[in-house]
Amino acid sequence: MSERFDFAHQNQFDSAHHEQFSPAYRRLLSSGELNQRARAARALLGSCTLCPRNCKVDRLQGETGTCRTGAEPVVSSYGPHFGEESPLVGHGGSGTIFLTNCNLNCIFCQNCDISQLGVGEEVTLNALAEMMLSLQRRGCHNINWVTPTHQMPQLLAALEIAAEKGLDLPIVYNCGGYESVEALRLLDGIVDIYMPDAKYGNNESGRRLSRVPDYWDRCQEALAEMHRQVG
Ligand code: SF4
Repeated sequence: MSERFDFAHQNQFDSAHHEQFSPAYRRLLSSGELNQRARAARALLGSCTLCPRNCKVDRLQGETGTCRTGAEPVVSSYGPHFGEESPLVGHGGSGTIFLTNCNLNCIFCQNCDISQLGVGEEVTLNALAEMMLSLQRRGCHNINWVTPTHQMPQLLAALEIAAEKGLDLPIVYNCGGYESVEALRLLDGIVDIYMPDAKYGNNESGRRLSRVPDYWDRCQEALAEMHRQVG
């Protein structure tokens, strides 16, 4: 039986809810904590341990690791997306930003042109912030960072700029599940909704299909940290 979505009810809920809802990152913006988190995240790029691959390359000096990404944002596309889970989509769509490249290397990736072949453009932090604001103006219900792990510092820096200019949509962290707990802790109070993959329930499948040795070990730790933050 297909699931029907009650758009009329969702519209009423959205209007009522939006009047009360203010994402936690807006409080962190006021206190200066968002700026501190963005700086701490950027520092991780100097010997990159943003994900469990721990490449320890200096991305601030132009080196790149397995994800082939430097210190600037690289974006493939952005826009309202209506193919996500219905609570994220509502009537205005989920405001997706597809980040180029990935810290995984899955042989079955449905977006391999973006994740592995590098389709996308390097953009400034201001331009990335403007994408978020544009999605808000277009009526999206959230900002959905797709494959954010390897670009988390860039996203936080852009989020600060966007929040200063009035962004107040919840943040969705739509990641591959191969995450560093240290990096995730920097997102506490910033990300409202985690939407991780849990691709495999054992390390061997991750080794064979995503070319990482410890997918399930790291994924379990990451899921526990996400749950600690947002329940
Ligand atoms: S984010 Fe990229 S460079 Fe950093 S540890 Fe992961 S794969 Fe390596």
